[in-house]
Amino acid sequence: MSNSRGRFGVHGGQYIPETLMNAVIELEEAYNHYKDDPEFNRELTELLNEYAGRPSRLYYAEKMTKDLGGAKIYLKREDLNHTGAHKINNVLGQALLAKKMGKTRLIAETGAGQHGVATATAAALMGMECVVFMGEEDTKRQALNVYKMRLLGAEVIPVTTGTATLKDAVSEAMREWTSRIDDTHYCLGSVMGPHPFPTIVRDFQAVISKEIKEQMLEKEGRLPDTVIACVGGGSNAIGTFYNFIEDESVQLIGCEAAGRGIDTFETAATINTGRLGIFHGMKSYFCQDKYGQIAPVYSISAGLDYPGIGPEHAYLHDIHRAEYVAITDDEAVNAFEYLSRTEGIIPAIESSHALAHAMKIAPTMDKDKIIVVTISGRGDKDCAAIARYRGEIIEE
Ligand SMILES: *Cc1c(COP(=O)(O)O)cnc(C)c1O
Repeated sequence: MSNSRGRFGVHGGQYIPETLMNAVIELEEAYNHYKDDPEFNRELTELLNEYAGRPSRLYYAEKMTKDLGGAKIYLKREDLNHTGAHKINNVLGQALLAKKMGKTRLIAETGAGQHGVATATAAALMGMECVVFMGEEDTKRQALNVYKMRLLGAEVIPVTTGTATLKDAVSEAMREWTSRIDDTHYCLGSVMGPHPFPTIVRDFQAVISKEIKEQMLEKEGRLPDTVIACVGGGSNAIGTFYNFIEDESVQLIGCEAAGRGIDTFETAATINTGRLGIFHGMKSYFCQDKYGQIAPVYSISAGLDYPGIGPEHAYLHDIHRAEYVAITDDEAVNAFEYLSRTEGIIPAIESSHALAHAMKIAPTMDKDKIIVVTISGRGDKDCAAIARYRGEIIEE
């Protein structure tokens, strides 16, 4: 079922079974109430600052800037947050909202395990029960994150349907929510799914661009020319873009995972290769086969291999406000190694997609131009996979 709420152009909406309607209506009403509640916002800011370590730094990457010889490059260091990525911003917001709603149990989907770990972390902090759905294939590939979630007190349920990966974990979490809405909040991990999730998650991640703007005005006395972020579902990217959407001089660039290339089937570049469709409760662009079935997607980066993109990004693409480029595995791995060597910062392989694009365009820009790249997470989790990509096997 669908209605006009939560639309971004033709995208978004609520394409969900009747049995889920009550849950999303209750969530929307609660969110509309609390989003402007001073006490809620005071508590959330305190959690973000005292627990997650905000504001994150806006770091001038001087060596990288000089080496590339063009635009000045700043890095927004979401990798320095507690749990090592931007995901904690959203999860703390949703967990606090759920608690205010009287919920005692959080459920979540996870692919690589990063959102599952962040949700399990918030649940531990707030004394809530936590159940994480994870494709069985992913539980094998990401055994360390499964261990962490259990250590934090969460139950991890391997999902065996479909391709036993992220999209199946989302479907399973939605099914579970349908059957138990009284005490349970579904803590969705990106700017996707039915309304109001794309709006709620965007608002909780918008702290990224709010801080970039303040920090940039303080450091440079002006706005940046270009902001760049990687796009899986699109939460760190929309968080990076949001407070600049009205500033038309600021160029917004999202970097999708091309995998082995957008001319191959081993890709996850949704805007560059996908078509309009309806899946996981929303209308947006999705990677599809010739029959309109959701296509299997691939990227070296587990955090970017989702076959869809958030509806607000689909809209920003349609109106040409943001640009979406595709970055291959190879380009991302090079950027991963480059930042480690050049600045002593090991970025997540997801974030390395954004860096790779900055490395392409910075040398073509004047020295008085400014680029901000969001480093969505840290790369400790990726070291073994990158070593393997280079033909080296590391014992854990
Ligand atoms: C999950 C993840 C992403 C992708 O998710 P978005 O919702 O697109 O931000 C990107 N970077 C890191 C480090 C992640 O953990």
